[in-house]
Amino acid sequence: MGEPEFPLRIGGAPEGGIRDRTGPAGPDGGGTGPATDPPVRVLFVASECAPWVKTGGLADVVAALPAALVAAGLDVRVCLPFYRSIRREVGEAPACATVLGALVREATLPSGVPVYLIDAPWLFGRDGGPYQDGEGRDWRDNAQRFGLFARVCASLASDETPLLWRPDVFHGHDWQAGLGPMWLKTALPGAAPSVMTIHNLAFQGLFPPETVNALRLPPGVYAVEGVEFYGRLSFLKAGLHYADVLTTVSPTYAREIQEEAQGCGLHGLLARRRADLTGIVNGIDDIVWNPATDPLITARYDSKTLAEKRFNKEALQRRFDLVVDPTRPLFGMVGRLTWQKGVDLVAEIADRLVQAGGQLAVLGTGERGLEDSLRVLARRHRGAIAVRIGFEEGLAHEIEAGADLFLMPSRFEPCGLNQMYSQRYGTPPVARATGGLADTIRAVGPGDCAGSGFLFEEATGTALWEAVEQALAAYRDASCWTRIMCHGMRQDFSWTRSALRYRALYHALVSGAAARRRMPG
Ligand code: ADP
Repeated sequence: MGEPEFPLRIGGAPEGGIRDRTGPAGPDGGGTGPATDPPVRVLFVASECAPWVKTGGLADVVAALPAALVAAGLDVRVCLPFYRSIRREVGEAPACATVLGALVREATLPSGVPVYLIDAPWLFGRDGGPYQDGEGRDWRDNAQRFGLFARVCASLASDETPLLWRPDVFHGHDWQAGLGPMWLKTALPGAAPSVMTIHNLAFQGLFPPETVNALRLPPGVYAVEGVEFYGRLSFLKAGLHYADVLTTVSPTYAREIQEEAQGCGLHGLLARRRADLTGIVNGIDDIVWNPATDPLITARYDSKTLAEKRFNKEALQRRFDLVVDPTRPLFGMVGRLTWQKGVDLVAEIADRLVQAGGQLAVLGTGERGLEDSLRVLARRHRGAIAVRIGFEEGLAHEIEAGADLFLMPSRFEPCGLNQMYSQRYGTPPVARATGGLADTIRAVGPGDCAGSGFLFEEATGTALWEAVEQALAAYRDASCWTRIMCHGMRQDFSWTRSALRYRALYHALVSGAAARRRMPG
């Protein structure tokens, strides 16, 4: 099938393009008015959602947050591209409408949250990842793919929608959804207000200027006060410029991205919009990531049965061909092997870590050079360092449960999930004090046992090593170590609190939009 003209016609839904709506819902998930008002309806627009398609933390958030919002009384639906990988999971989901030549199919996530799948087979019906082919090259038509996706999703939040269900809020995630707020603000009648969440500012969806015409963007938007970013079209900037409200995934990251060092060129825009920008820390799926019930680990435990954890350590040492020795401090690491994650800093201290009696088990995929440097270290320190290149959900659980300490020396970390998993599994993290790491780890001070992990400031091997030495000293003091483990295990990382903050934000947005509609003129 060839690529369609863009934009195309809007097709009628079998359910008949209903326009009736009783007005926006109000606070408390119900209304400002009578108690019978419907709950606030939110359309989540994202390119990943666990367990169907996942390359990182975004997928976990898009799976868990809607479910938590539904539990908090909201009506949330998720919109995803209908990738071939999702088709394999759900089969031919029933179609309910056609928008811009794409079929809108309906399915349900394992959590019970309804999903709209945007089926454009010429864009999404292919093997490979959501953004890249099997060789790790970006798909050449990513602008067309996510341009159409965002445009269709914006239609669903405007008078153009052929669906019965009509959202009060469009909530876009990362650059793949970025053009949605622009369409809503500049071209679509009856548009819902929009929220844009930054999960990682480093990924911006930048395309050559010709793309503006290829996607038939509205006249005038290709400007500095619009979607232009230094001579290119930026999908993320479009979202950040046009959305009514901006959020990111931790308060510290919200501050950091307003500064040049971490602002990826967008710090000026974000600083100007600081009154609209909120940092809300992510939660974790505390059913999947629970050492007391986790079926993927060797021995289950909680803070009262910590001794069981040693069986997981032994299993992990065997699994990674490390010397089986309960006394050697075992460091774990899981994630993308990239510069962002500070993998080079770990490589820098690896020799010292082994000399100090430590072991290291790494799971991840990423930049070839970093993967190779870890392989070299594993060959040099057989039995003490081991690396598994790949993406293995089960093994990630085994590392969280089996390691004594968890390494996360990220240069920047919008929120990060692994440090929360590791605290919950009684595996204190050694992490850089940045973004969500600073917000979710209570630092153990020198000589005390009061926190839940170890933080360092400078992104250098020396600073990381000092934190590792501090952690090793605490590890050798059994009662101090148990206290640190228990502090992490008892923290509440559930989504409940964060979901309530999003709910308050939607309510403010919906009541503001309603007030604007009521204003004369
Ligand atoms: P990011 O989104 O920047 O990659 P996060 O810490 O927010 O980092 O989330 C990463 C998620 O992906 C976590 O759930 C982590 O366990 C998982 N993950 C990353 N790499 C791997 C891997 N190689 N194998 C299994 N899980 C992985």
